[in-house]
Amino acid sequence: MVDAFETYDDGNIFAKILRGELPAKRLLDEEHVLAFPDIAPQALVHILVIPKGRYIAQGDFHASASETEITAFWRAVARLAAEHCPDGHRLIANQGRHSGQEVPHFHVQILGGRRLGALVPEA
Ligand code: AMP
Repeated sequence: MVDAFETYDDGNIFAKILRGELPAKRLLDEEHVLAFPDIAPQALVHILVIPKGRYIAQGDFHASASETEITAFWRAVARLAAEHCPDGHRLIANQGRHSGQEVPHFHVQILGGRRLGALVPEA
């Protein structure tokens, strides 16, 4: 069995969104970056930002992506956060089993729109 945290799984939900097989409201759609609202928002604003390349989590993204992809990604995160959360925001990037990562395609979550609670609520 293929380990989704070891080898990129083209069947993951975000890969399907990138291929247009699943719907998502495209808040930003650039050459290297896509952003859309989280389907189960944990805050008033909850946006997912993903690179279009096949990266499992932040580790392989930062190790293997080109500087162009990395710059485009973080600039998009900054622009979306400023636009949607002018009073502040939190960024989350889960990686691997201990983090509870569910979708094995690198994503940054932008949370905001109201005062946020504790950073790490449960073990
Ligand atoms: P993680 O636990 O870090 O892998 O986060 C995955 C996030 O993706 C969760 O916040 C889910 O609510 C969200 N999610 C799962 N499926 C979809 C989908 N089809 N569209 C938008 N967000 C999704």
